[in-house]
Amino acid sequence: MEKALARPRQLTLRIGPAGGDGRYCVVEMIGEDLRKAGMASADAAALGSTGRILDATDILRMTQPFPPRRDAGLARLHAFLPRAGQRYAAERNHDRGPADRGNVSGLGPYVRHRLVTEAEVIRHVLDVHSFGAAEKFIQEQFWRTYWKGWLELRPQVWRDWLAGVAEARRRLDRDPGLHDCYTDAVAGRTGIDGFDAWAAELRETGYLHNHARMWFASIWIFTLRLPWELGAEFFLRHLLDGDPASNTLSWRWVGGLQTVGKTYLARRDNIRTYTEGRFDPVGLATSAAPLTGTPIPPPGTLPALPVADPTVRTGLLLHEDDLAPESLAGVPPLAAVAVLDTAPVHSPHGVSERVQTWVSGALADAAQRAGKAFGLTPDRLTGTDWCARMIDWARAAGLAQVVAPYAPVGPTADRLAALETALGDAGIQLVRLPRPYDRASWPHATRGYFAFKEKIPRLLTKAWREPGLCDSIGHAEETDGAAD
Ligand SMILES: Cc1cc2nc3c(=O)[nH]c(=O)nc-3n(C[C@H](O)[C@H](O)[C@H](O)COP(=O)(O)OP(=O)(O)OC[C@H]3O[C@@H](n4cnc5c(N)ncnc54)[C@H](O)[C@@H]3O)c2cc1C
Repeated sequence: MEKALARPRQLTLRIGPAGGDGRYCVVEMIGEDLRKAGMASADAAALGSTGRILDATDILRMTQPFPPRRDAGLARLHAFLPRAGQRYAAERNHDRGPADRGNVSGLGPYVRHRLVTEAEVIRHVLDVHSFGAAEKFIQEQFWRTYWKGWLELRPQVWRDWLAGVAEARRRLDRDPGLHDCYTDAVAGRTGIDGFDAWAAELRETGYLHNHARMWFASIWIFTLRLPWELGAEFFLRHLLDGDPASNTLSWRWVGGLQTVGKTYLARRDNIRTYTEGRFDPVGLATSAAPLTGTPIPPPGTLPALPVADPTVRTGLLLHEDDLAPESLAGVPPLAAVAVLDTAPVHSPHGVSERVQTWVSGALADAAQRAGKAFGLTPDRLTGTDWCARMIDWARAAGLAQVVAPYAPVGPTADRLAALETALGDAGIQLVRLPRPYDRASWPHATRGYFAFKEKIPRLLTKAWREPGLCDSIGHAEETDGAAD
């Protein structure tokens, strides 16, 4: 049966099986909107015009599959669902190139910015597959949760990375050889087969397959011997899913700083096999001695958070770390909504124009949905003096309290901390609204992923039983035993 997912003003997406032959499809007009969202014109032409039925292959084959809208994220999720079971487990490690991404979900940017939440993805997957069949996909999804939780319990590691970037940049200034090696690497001019293509793909699309990210990071660290902090910064600048926790900690993992003493070495035969012969690099490092760094701090605890006061005049502030306002728990009655649409600050040296445009589009989409959900016209806060503008906005709306989705460790959290002080000085309280999914999962990220992974079935069972934990929209019905 066809299922209407969303009907915003300019875009209607209908998701459903097409013709009973097992294909999932998006039906109706999407070409116009995808063009507006910056999709490559070749892709838009291939999709055809209004009314064309798109099957899952159409969606998953797009070279720029990421219109920054929640409904486009849901369309992609639905297109991918039939592939999220054993097929994903068998095929996910193959990087077949930008023209064929059907073996991975491409959901990273949506989930990173929470246009679609982690819990929602898992829930939809379990609607279609048993836990056993989709275990690999669910485990991969939980890597994101684990990394966020791990960094949340050890925020110093993020600050160490920021200091490491500053120090590595100073080294570039002092050492012309290192500087040239770095500029060749980011420009894709090293002559290393694969590596140069991934540098170009990252810059041109904002996406890299997970395996390519691992190979790239390993070659960067062990073959080119460049500072890992700058590689992580290059990724954060260009990835549409650039994420403080997943990115920093994955780079640390490749370099042997995360699982102490364990490194990831990119090997020629592995690259040849998993790129299906597209790349065959020679001259790669043959050993990978772990990098050294400051010892990992012991895990802290999650801070207790005050709840919002439902009796005072309240505004909602949306930011790029959580753009599903409809499913936020604990939102009091609202008098105003604003989105923080300033240059994204994922990376200490700014982000690419592509990332900036994407995040701006995602914020606009969230603002539109929030406006609809809360019956208010959202304001857009832009510019470098956003903090002062925020105070003006709160005062003009007569607010005593501003609520915002909780932002995990990273630049947005730092901005919220600055805002909390500035609002406090103006007599207005800032309250962060956590997601129950995060609060239930993050405390388990005290050790390695293996120990965390063991908790997944329990977490899922909990998610099914505790109202609000799954924060899925349109899933009021609870189903016991779905996570068997
Ligand atoms: C060096 C390096 C840097 C990375 N930087 C980032 C980053 O900045 N932001 C980011 O979101 N991911 C990062 N990853 C993790 C992973 O590569 C991407 O999440 C994944 O490739 C996104 O593509 P996809 O949605 O098609 O993945 P799929 O294979 O379809 O995976 C499904 C979902 O599972 C999650 N996931 C899968 N693998 C991982 C992983 N290893 N770590 C965390 N989550 C995972 C993502 O939410 C993803 O959308 C990095 C990995 C490495 C090795």
